[in-house]
Amino acid sequence: MESQHIENIVIVGGGTAGWIAAAAMSKMLGAGVKITLIESDAIGTVGVGEATIPQIRRLNAVLGLDENEFVRETNGTFKLGIEFNNWGHLGESYLHTFGDAGINLASLHFHQYWLRSRAEGNPNGLWDYSLHHKAAYNHKFGRLDRVGNTSMTGLAYAFHFDAGLYARYLRKLAEASGVTRVEGKIVDVALAAETGFIDSVTLDRGETISGDLFVDCSGFRGLLIGDALGVGYQDWSKWLPCNGAVAVGCESTAPLLPYTKATAHDAGWQWRIPLQHRTGNGHVFCEEFTTEEAVTETLLANLDGAPISDPKRLRFTTGRRDKFWHKNCVSLGLASGFLEPLESTSIHLIQSNVSKLIELFPDKAFDASNEIEYNRQVGHEYELIRDFLILHYHRTDREDSEFWRYCKHMDVPESLTEKMALFEGNGLLYKDADDLFRESSWVQVMVGQGLMPKNFHAMANRLSSEQLSGFLNDVQRLIQRATKDLPTHQDFINAHCKADLQ
Ligand SMILES: Cc1cc2nc3c(=O)[nH]c(=O)nc-3n(C[C@H](O)[C@H](O)[C@H](O)COP(=O)(O)OP(=O)(O)OC[C@H]3O[C@@H](n4cnc5c(N)ncnc54)[C@H](O)[C@@H]3O)c2cc1C
Repeated sequence: MESQHIENIVIVGGGTAGWIAAAAMSKMLGAGVKITLIESDAIGTVGVGEATIPQIRRLNAVLGLDENEFVRETNGTFKLGIEFNNWGHLGESYLHTFGDAGINLASLHFHQYWLRSRAEGNPNGLWDYSLHHKAAYNHKFGRLDRVGNTSMTGLAYAFHFDAGLYARYLRKLAEASGVTRVEGKIVDVALAAETGFIDSVTLDRGETISGDLFVDCSGFRGLLIGDALGVGYQDWSKWLPCNGAVAVGCESTAPLLPYTKATAHDAGWQWRIPLQHRTGNGHVFCEEFTTEEAVTETLLANLDGAPISDPKRLRFTTGRRDKFWHKNCVSLGLASGFLEPLESTSIHLIQSNVSKLIELFPDKAFDASNEIEYNRQVGHEYELIRDFLILHYHRTDREDSEFWRYCKHMDVPESLTEKMALFEGNGLLYKDADDLFRESSWVQVMVGQGLMPKNFHAMANRLSSEQLSGFLNDVQRLIQRATKDLPTHQDFINAHCKADLQ
């Protein structure tokens, strides 16, 4: 009897999505499945996408990567969070860190104790109780799981890296696990007449490559999922209005920061990503409110060092595919949707969706239930991230430009309105089990954007005023001591993962 197992996977595209899929699938599915990756040097990749979130460490573990080698090979640095400047209020900043502020006590979140102390006159901000904040602004970094023998968690971190070097590094891993790379431009996609499934793709030199399962990692265009299979795209621009970016690298400047910067401008925002050999910069914007020329000028005027490349222009539409999996094709990366780079979620979505695909891996019968469940899970994940991103634009006091007036007054999804109202009452959060962003992320961004709860949870009253101030002082002492013992970010890299920059 013919095997019903998928034996032949074709990945279309060799950007970050294609090579993550190739490396993870070859590792997880083993040698019984043939994997071919097709990419076209003539078309190239998007080549941005250099900031990540801590979940990438799970992918690294699955791939069996040595973290120091990975950072060295990609000219990488460490990331403790994102500094948001001018978002909630012009002239104000906050750091969305990857860690919790303080220590949760008796099953109540730390921010509730902080809210009570504030009501009693404590002038300290939430971040005065954050280890990540203290480490980041002292330019320090270390691998710290826990603070001493206390229940305070240590440093949660992610990476900044060179996107081109990252794809090259993953390619080496994937090819070592048996993935075959084919260079060439796909000019035709053949569908089976009866089922509409993809049979094969044809390259410009005439070669035809067939497969059981096709993974579309062809970037914004969605060569298979969109062009060949006609799956539509839900446009979310009314909530996430930015639709273009200009990116440019510049010379590095000291000190080496262990965080990304996201600085809001009149009609968008600018990223700053520190790498070992250069700083990555870009200005994301909405063309309905500005021009590419004006944005390029703002970007170049706000670099820390001299530019080292010509500005690169990118266009996109925020949103998602109507279906991520259709027939025998699963889309990943930009082919499946794009929620703009504000919280560095795209690379995470690639890895998360590859692991969902492996969990729900089909056989040649392609039972519709696998496809339905995959589309449900991925769609839900997209919506949760979407709401978190909209929060940054919508909860603002800014009315100083047409763009910010639009963002402040736009209608937002009810799911977000409800979350904001719940928090504004007495600092409560409804946590969806599938939400990528933890309570502490929602708290930091809501407070950072200026959404301050009117009251706090009654349980915070269980401590006497003396106990409360003793607890808060202890937290600060622990943070002070832990930060003092950390090396600088630069010293840590020099000692463990310095890139060969010759
Ligand atoms: C401005 C901007 C900033 C971003 N910043 C971040 C960030 O900080 N963090 C983050 O996580 N993500 C970020 N992203 C997203 C990130 O860049 C992408 O998720 C990531 O690069 C994956 O892209 P991809 O592989 O899906 O597509 P691409 O990089 O576009 O790769 C597409 C591949 O398909 C191939 N291809 C296309 N057509 C054909 C054809 N006809 N024949 C053969 N091959 C073909 C191409 O050659 C290429 O190899 C950012 C995106 C943008 C636009």
